[in-house]
This record gives sequence, C-alpha cells and structure tokens, in this order.
Amino acid sequence: MNIPFANRRLLALSVLFSLGLISAAALAQSPSQAAGSERRWVIIVDSGNQAGEIVESCGTARDCKLRYIFKDNGRGPEILERIRYAADGTLERYAATGESTFGSSVDERFASKNGRAQWQSTAERGSTDAAAGKLYLPLQGSGIVYEAMARLTAGGKTLAMLPTGEVTRRTLTTLALGEGEQRRELELVAFSGLGLTPDFVWITRGALPQIFAYVIPGYSVTVPAGFEGLSARLIEAQKTAENQLLAGFAARLSAPLEGLSVIRNARLFVSERARLRDGLHDVYILRGRISSIQPAGAGREATQPVRELDAGGRVMLPGLFDMHAHVGRWEGGLNLATGVTTVRDLGNDNPTVQQIIDETAAGTVFGPQIVPTGFLEGESPYSARNGFVISTLDQAKRAVDWYAAHGYPQIKIYNSFPREHLRATVAYAHERGLRVSGHVPAFLRARDVVEAGFDELNHINQIMLNFLVDERTDTRTLQRFYLPAEKTAGLDFEGSAVREFIDLLKARGTNIDPTLTTFDFLRQRDGELSAAYAAIADHLPVTLQRGLVSGGMKIPNERVHALYNRSYARMIDFVGRMHRAGIPLVAGTDAIAGFTLQRELELYVQAGIPAAEVLRIATWNGAKYSRVLADRGSLEVGKLADLMLVDGDPTQDIAAIRNVALVVTQGRSIDPAAVFRELGIKPFVATSPRWEKTGR
Ligand SMILES: [Zn+2]
Repeated sequence: MNIPFANRRLLALSVLFSLGLISAAALAQSPSQAAGSERRWVIIVDSGNQAGEIVESCGTARDCKLRYIFKDNGRGPEILERIRYAADGTLERYAATGESTFGSSVDERFASKNGRAQWQSTAERGSTDAAAGKLYLPLQGSGIVYEAMARLTAGGKTLAMLPTGEVTRRTLTTLALGEGEQRRELELVAFSGLGLTPDFVWITRGALPQIFAYVIPGYSVTVPAGFEGLSARLIEAQKTAENQLLAGFAARLSAPLEGLSVIRNARLFVSERARLRDGLHDVYILRGRISSIQPAGAGREATQPVRELDAGGRVMLPGLFDMHAHVGRWEGGLNLATGVTTVRDLGNDNPTVQQIIDETAAGTVFGPQIVPTGFLEGESPYSARNGFVISTLDQAKRAVDWYAAHGYPQIKIYNSFPREHLRATVAYAHERGLRVSGHVPAFLRARDVVEAGFDELNHINQIMLNFLVDERTDTRTLQRFYLPAEKTAGLDFEGSAVREFIDLLKARGTNIDPTLTTFDFLRQRDGELSAAYAAIADHLPVTLQRGLVSGGMKIPNERVHALYNRSYARMIDFVGRMHRAGIPLVAGTDAIAGFTLQRELELYVQAGIPAAEVLRIATWNGAKYSRVLADRGSLEVGKLADLMLVDGDPTQDIAAIRNVALVVTQGRSIDPAAVFRELGIKPFVATSPRWEKTGR
C-alpha cells in the first residue's frame, strides 16, 4: 500500500499508523498557487509502472480540491479532499471522502475558527480551544500538507500539530536538477516527531517551498508529472542521505564486544527441546561466537574475560526469527530492541535487499541479519511489483537461477503466478536446491500447490481460502480478505475437507507461516483500538497511538463485526490444530517490526500451544526453515552469540517476551531501552544489566 506524502518509513507501520495529510496551507502566500491553478503528481512503483496519481486544483488561492488514487497488488485508496487554508498557513477547513486500501470508507472533517477547532473521522473525534497556529494532521488522504509543514517549520521552527504532537525539520541534502524550464533547486528535508523514524520529503528551495517529490527507495517515487526522468537522481541522493543518518544510529546504539566477554548467572533456554536448562550458567563470547558455556562461577578465576555482565538469573534465549518481513533500512532498531536478530525477507526489490544485506554486514544499517527469499510473481493487472514478474516458464526458470546463484534458500510464489507453469517451476527450484513457499496463485487452492510440491504456505487467509473459494473466486482482489472474514466462522473443522487437508500437509511435511497478527485488521472496526498492539500502545508516541484506532475493512454493523470476530478466532484455533497435528510452524509478522512478532507468539499460546513450544517455533524452527541452524537458533558452543536476556519467564508467561533487557548479535551488544528512547518509545524494562570492564 502506498500513501503519497505521508509517513511511509515503516511501510508495515504505515498500514496501521498511516497519517494522511492535506495540502499546502500557504497557497495564499505562494504566487505559484494562483486561483485556477492545477498540479499533478504521478506515483511510480519500482518496476517503472505508474500505480497512482495526485491531482490538485485550486478554485481560489485558499480553496483546493485533491484527487488521490493508488493501486498496487490489487488494492489501494481512492480519496477526494477539499481544503481551505487559513491566512497563517495552517488549515481552516478540511474534508476527505472515499475508500481506504482495504475498502473501509473514508469520511474525515476538520474545521477551525477563532482558535477553536474540531475534527471527526470514522476512527476518532475531538476538539480544542487552543488551535491557533497549530496544523491539523489528517488520518488518511493525499498527504500534501507537508508543504504547509515545510513552510511553517522554516528557520528551525517547531510546529505544534493537531490533535497532538510537534514537528521539526532539518535539511539533509540539496540538489539542482533538470535543464531550462525543468531546472529545479531542491532540498531533502527530514521531519521528526510524526513517526518512529524521520519522514523524508523533497521540497523546492526558497522562502515558499513547494512539495516536489516523495521517494521510498526500492518501492516508489512520487514526482510532478513530466519530471519522471529525474527519479533516479532523487533516489540515489536520498539513499546516500539516509545512510549517513543510519550509520550514526548504528554507532550510537550498539557497542562492539571485542575480546572475551561473559554473561554470568543466566537461565538458558534449550530451544530444540523447548525447556529451560536446570541451574544457572555462564556464557562466554569471543569473536562473535559462543566460546564456552559453564555452570555459573565454574573456573571463574582462570577465564580472564575483558568484560562481564551479571544476568542476575534472567532467562537467556537465542535471538528471535521474524520469518515474514519485507525489509527496509529503518525498522532495524525496532527489530533488534525486541530481540529479533534474524529476519527472513519474503519479497522485495532485489537490488535493494541485496544492498541492505551488505549495509547491515558493514554496520551502516542498524538491523538484524537478513535471509532473503526470492519473490516470483506473474504478469497481470494485479501484479505486485517486487522480485521478478514473469509470463513464461523460461523466465521463471531464469529467475530461479538468479536466486540460486545469489544464495537464496527459498523462492516465494505470488498471487498472479501462471498456473500452467507452477509444477515445472516448483520442480526446477527443487532441482536447484531451493525451497518453495507462497501465496496460492489465483484460481487454485492451497491443496493444489501442496500437491504441486510447495514446502511452505504463507498466511492463514491463504489456507482458509482452500475451503472457501470456487472456480470464479479471484484472490488477487480484496476477496482474499473478505471471504475468510465472512466464511471461516461457519467452517466445519471436524469435516472431511479440513481433516484431509491437514493429513496432506502432514504427509508432505509442509510447514506453515500463519502471520495471524497481520490479519487482526479483518475484525477491527474504525475507532476501536487494535487488539494486535493494545499491549504496547501506551509505550508509543501519541502521534502513533492515533493510527491504532483505524480499521481498514468495511464493517457496516454489529452483526458483521461479530461474524468477523468469530472468523478471526477460528483462524487462531486452526493454527493450534495444525500444531497439534504435528505440522511445523514458523512465526512471522508482515507488519510492524518487533511488536507484531511478540503478539504473534501470544496468539500461538492463545491457540493452545504451550509457551515453551512457541519459543521453539520462534527460535529453532526459524533457524531450521531459514537454513541457518548451523550457526543460530540455539545457545550452543561454536554458534554465533545471537541471544537475548529477558525479565520474567516467557516459558511460563509468553508476555514476558516484551521485557527484553539485553541483546547480543553480530559481535555487538545492544541495550533495548536505549534504542526505544531513541525512537520515542517508552522502554519496557526498568533497569538494563550493565557490562563491567574487568580491567584486563
Ligand atoms: Zn508478505
């Protein structure tokens, strides 16, 4: 999903925390926005395809209408906005109507007069008598309000926002582009205060800046129509500027563990057997690996470590695996602070993910280790533009060869993959030694792809659809969300169809990546706090908490709400049934980094899986199905020191997994509380254990 000029850093986050915005308040001030003027931006996704546009037309200097539409992967918002600007550059009136990405209706209004303002949308309502000089931030919409924000934060000014929050901006780099008529003097600014990470926007330089472009490297570029040719320069310049910020991040928030280090008095989790080891142990770390594990205090005098840390009886776990991510450069801190030290990327722009893997290894990107999966999609009007998009079997085979040569352990087939080439492609991937997972291509059922040789199925909805689709169901559309929401509640789990399907999975040894949490939105009504993030909501910056009350689905009444809730509860139950039938699970998010995985594990316990077995799924299974069990996934001598300390006992109470006190990975030590503070998040642990230098 793409939201033009809004906070898109943590794309996954944007699904929940998207803050729409409205267009430039300063029209009255800017000679260029004369009455009757029109501006048009095009939204280009990485494959070069135009996937959307924003068209602004202003009847007078202070009254504008915007039409914003974006379609990618069979979904996207369509929104109309009406804006009236106040003389001071803020908003006087705002109205937005239309449809959000997943079909819920958008109906948002704001009005301000004489310092008194009120706002109302399907997710919230509020008012204030202290509105003077503050800029309203709509929840949905085209997002062109960054133009007003850019003008109102000029000269280092801090801008108060409505309903809440403050914004500042700084210039990261400048760029002169184009020739003659097309010549533009631009600057890349970073707005801080709206999200966990900065928002980057390209604006024109000068006293009355205008929005010029918005870039998400590796995903999309939004530029004025006619300026598409400048995209590559903008992307390069922005990547350089972002990497400079990121490098500072990594250096500030992690410390190298050079020489022999020891963590004393820890309770070790034996991931392979899903239980805690008896007694306390000392874990020695040297050159990024576990060099020795001894009973607590054994040989203490002789070992001569450079530094030591007392775990104080805390539980030590191997680093967690997020088995369903789409990595960017900015969610790494959130992953590491929550103990997620390895993520499996399940589809991305190939050059981008390769760069991020190198930048992470070089320490310029602060984030977990990445295991890439090769995204393989078919050409159709609904195609998701990642990885390789193919039409012929030969193209599919060449894509597999590319992935095999680049060390990918797996490919992921997507919604529009041509059925006629599926079996041959799966066989070819196996020949090349790769695992195959995926969505179920349209007009097939999960049972068909398992019989075709899939090793893994991604997403609980793709599994439920096995029992719900007919030959006309097109799962490339929103049907893949609405059908499971409507019908799962009535499914007979004791019936032959379900039993035979589970038997088939068992017989074929297929594993499942349910991503239950990312489907919580199926039953969330606008205005209702997301159950997926309720446990952490009050730790987040208030500006983000706002985004947690936006649903996404069209849920017209209480009856439908109850139905969708029952369906979601049964999806959770189905995961428990698969586990009890001996079908291996892996835990993934496909949404906000870190926090989503914590919720995912909680839902597995809710599905009836014992907490200790859930931790095995998140560690041992993750390493096994990422093919990195040789050096991760358990606390063993010789393996990477890839571990975390937790306050409380998550083998008893899975919620304790949120209390991460220390993370060690990639030869560095990370204090989660410090990372959370940097991100504007209230830490989860009161006191972090400290390393003591031994003076050796
Ligand atoms: Zn995904």
